[in-house]
Amino acid sequence: MKKLLLILTLIAPLGAQPAQNVQDAIVAEVLADHSAYEFLGHLCDDHGPRLTGSAANNAAMLDTLHQLHAMGVEAHLQPFKMPGWVRLEDEAVMVAPIKRKLRAVTLSYVQPHAPFEADVVYLGDGSDAAIKGLDTQGKIGLLAPNAAQIRGGYNEIAQELGLKGIVRTCRVNGGQLLCRTGSFQGEPINVPVYCVTQEEGKWMERSLARDKPVRVRLHTRSYCKEIDTANIVATFPGKTKDTVIIGGHFDSWDLGQGAIDNGIGVAQLFGVAKALQAHAKENLRTVELVWFNGEEQGLWGSRHHAPTLGDRPIAAMVNLDMVGFPKSLNALGVDALVPVLKAFDATLGDRRHADGVANANWFGSDHTPYQLAGIPAITFGAFIDPDAVRYYHDFGDTFDKIDPKMIAESTATIAALTYYLANAEGLGTARLDRAAVLALFSDKQLVERMVSSGLLPKPESGAVSETAK
Ligand SMILES: [Zn+2]
Repeated sequence: MKKLLLILTLIAPLGAQPAQNVQDAIVAEVLADHSAYEFLGHLCDDHGPRLTGSAANNAAMLDTLHQLHAMGVEAHLQPFKMPGWVRLEDEAVMVAPIKRKLRAVTLSYVQPHAPFEADVVYLGDGSDAAIKGLDTQGKIGLLAPNAAQIRGGYNEIAQELGLKGIVRTCRVNGGQLLCRTGSFQGEPINVPVYCVTQEEGKWMERSLARDKPVRVRLHTRSYCKEIDTANIVATFPGKTKDTVIIGGHFDSWDLGQGAIDNGIGVAQLFGVAKALQAHAKENLRTVELVWFNGEEQGLWGSRHHAPTLGDRPIAAMVNLDMVGFPKSLNALGVDALVPVLKAFDATLGDRRHADGVANANWFGSDHTPYQLAGIPAITFGAFIDPDAVRYYHDFGDTFDKIDPKMIAESTATIAALTYYLANAEGLGTARLDRAAVLALFSDKQLVERMVSSGLLPKPESGAVSETAK
């Protein structure tokens, strides 16, 4: 008898496997619960957009914390400082061939300047081939809709070409604008950089192609300033200190309401918190939910949180950034996670992911700082109605675009994954070593984007940047 007990102990050293009946109950409860959807409606309509550092962001953050406490969740703010930016009334006006106020938006980290007028020069996609031989000195450079991330950043290209300003043509048509950060490193940009509508950008491009002079007047009042902000961290202690982190960014751009980007993730985390509050008491691992601030301007919240983990044992980090209807799970380059995610997917029955398990890393959201710290990260491939997602980073990213079914379905799957990761056997917590981390970023385009964002040093040094750790 004693021997049998010993054998049982050996084959189940970590305790219980995820209980299918508990996971199924979580899914059923989340599907029937509208509170995450309603919470998002309240955040969007009663607070407005959540640009990091704004009064609206701070009020929405305190409101969220209050609601978590009201549910009995152990949650706190993790304050941090970051390079912030304040938007004021900026103006871009076409003065030739006709006078017309352009629909335009400044990129974050531009700085105020006295109004000026200058000729526009077309830079195409901004590549070396496109700009070769152009007379750019003292002009405003116009970039095509397909212009990639600018080599070395706006300060470098402006200095290299002697530009007084840069105007990007929006990649989406229909009067849309695309707010975005001007510098992932939070550096003040020395020349004004604007995004204009695709229609107005192409108008200027056509005029220039017919040698019609185009002149634009810019007046920027927005300014950079260091800000105090915070992440919200909710903790659900398990039987062990081994921890699963589920995170998504809280902040948004300021033109709309940040309902899609990333109100979806904010609501999902809220729904997961509610599900865990009812079901997490017996989990093997601790679960930490994190609402990040400062993502849109340079992943500042996750860049702050990941290094604070020190050598705490972390099994995985799941990033929720605009996860609509889940279609696949993504191991983001960590082969060892693939069988875990496949085993989880198999527990979902009818709700299995249509596209199964993918394993392709990408850059541009809050999983990256965890990966750089050697923590395996997971996200979803998902579907959002193209008529809703087209308003990404603009005026139309509002709560009316949110399908309640999308919130319920996605939150059910995410809550199930959370429960599974909190209880599955065999999830290690050893950090990936430096070589394994660099292998996640071996794709050439990924490396280029990481380097220009300051998250990886230039390839020849081969080491992971300290700024990201
Ligand atoms: Zn986002």
